Amino acid sequence: MKRAAFLIAFLLTAVSCASMQQQSRSHVDRAVQALGGAEALGSIKTVATKGTVRQWEPEQSMTPGGEMRFACESTFEAVTDAGARTTRIDWVRNFAYPAPRTFRYSEVVTPEVGYVAGIDSNGRTKQSMESNPPAHSMSGLRLTATQRELLRVSPLLLLDMQKNPDRLSAGGDLMVGKVSYPAVDYRLGGQTFTVLFDRTSALPVRIRTLDYDNIWGDVPFDVALSDWHVVDGVRMATTRTYELNGSRVAEVKDTETKVNAPVGADRFVIPDAFKIRASRPAATDRVPYQWVIRRQFIGVYLDSDAPSYDTRSSAGLRLVELSPGVQHVTGGSHHSLLVEMRDHLVVFDAPVSDGQSKWLLDTAKARYPGKPVKYLVLTHHHMDHAGGLRAYAAQGASIVAGRGGAAHYRRVLAAPFTRNPDLPSRDLRKTPIIEVLDKQVLTDGTREVHVYAIEPNPHADGLLIGYLPETRLGFVTDIWSPGVGAMPDKLDPALAALVAGVKRAGISPARFAGGHGAVGDYAPLAALEGK
Ligand SMILES: [Zn+2]
Repeated sequence: MKRAAFLIAFLLTAVSCASMQQQSRSHVDRAVQALGGAEALGSIKTVATKGTVRQWEPEQSMTPGGEMRFACESTFEAVTDAGARTTRIDWVRNFAYPAPRTFRYSEVVTPEVGYVAGIDSNGRTKQSMESNPPAHSMSGLRLTATQRELLRVSPLLLLDMQKNPDRLSAGGDLMVGKVSYPAVDYRLGGQTFTVLFDRTSALPVRIRTLDYDNIWGDVPFDVALSDWHVVDGVRMATTRTYELNGSRVAEVKDTETKVNAPVGADRFVIPDAFKIRASRPAATDRVPYQWVIRRQFIGVYLDSDAPSYDTRSSAGLRLVELSPGVQHVTGGSHHSLLVEMRDHLVVFDAPVSDGQSKWLLDTAKARYPGKPVKYLVLTHHHMDHAGGLRAYAAQGASIVAGRGGAAHYRRVLAAPFTRNPDLPSRDLRKTPIIEVLDKQVLTDGTREVHVYAIEPNPHADGLLIGYLPETRLGFVTDIWSPGVGAMPDKLDPALAALVAGVKRAGISPARFAGGHGAVGDYAPLAALEGK
């Protein structure tokens, strides 16, 4: 009897799996038809597109968890050779943040390598700096992320899905707003695209990946397809809106699309010098997609196979001792400060990723055995200086944050992070959070670490600086990068905020170490006041 019931249950499951599989194929078949049919899609040799892109960055906001910053407005001309799976994009990008500037450059992406001609970032690699004219090979991380994003919006994605039915599975019905869409998962390497279909038109309306964001943990990243136009018998979405966790972060509008226009092979040429030592695509599960994609939104991406430092110029992260028990954590694009106390450690800033945090936690453990990091002071909430906070919280550190930080990090630490490439997910909701509105003194009875709010300032609400009275050393992030370049002639608004804040705090720093840059004397900066 039991056996019969089991058999019936088994058969029902098998039948329902088979019919779900059938349904998935049918959604894909109908979509291919709606896009113009397999024959029209299969005869695409080249696609040439011109258009505009606008981008916003949620985790460089003024207020913790607040309105996203407008990042960049671009025009582009893209050409794809469908047979070679190779794309070239020529960009003119007008950035609004962190400072207004224009970058003109080209990207060539093949299945094996990626190449950038021109300057595409403030965070240039050694290879880019040493090349004349400026150019560099893409890191494997960027190559894999770019390939994924090109495929996501390729007119050939659905045809690929139709040709590979074994990689399809039912994605169930997914809600977007108040509308339910049937969905199909398409597995490709270590990645899964979830394609949502319109019930009436049968067209794909949204293509989702499940990504990791270093602030918000597990997040959906979608492209929503709209404004369909038929070009040469193929239906194309000429507006593509990217949503991160439900908020629009980018909008692409095509102004011109040509199918099968002749494209010279020279358009796709990558000079040998940039092919020979180029990185291969990185493993899909090792790519911090949101970091790689969105650092490019604001034109600061460091295009390296190590997210924290340029593998071609730095041997890696390192400690630079500024005075006994005070270490500047450098070697990468973003720095921390580590302070030894009697029975614990204090760290300022958790930049980039939990991978960088784990390096510092391991290094600190070897250097100062038996002294756990008790306080992680976050100078501000931006993703590049706070995105490694989970590794500290996981080891029991309290978070020290500025105005608005308590509510913000309470939400951040409640978010699951099962897709974090550096740290297994766990419950961090009990992490203590100390919100500093004005001043906080961390002490072990001998050494004192001071934390001061620098408000108002133009960079981030609730921004904090550190100060060690014993050696008169300060730590500052983003409003001043000490020790790089010449001292300015006069204070800009960010520097003026620092000088005013230091005065209000009643402290007299001799030097500052930076979240960027190195270490610089404070007196020459203070002397600029009133000039
Ligand atoms: Zn910042």
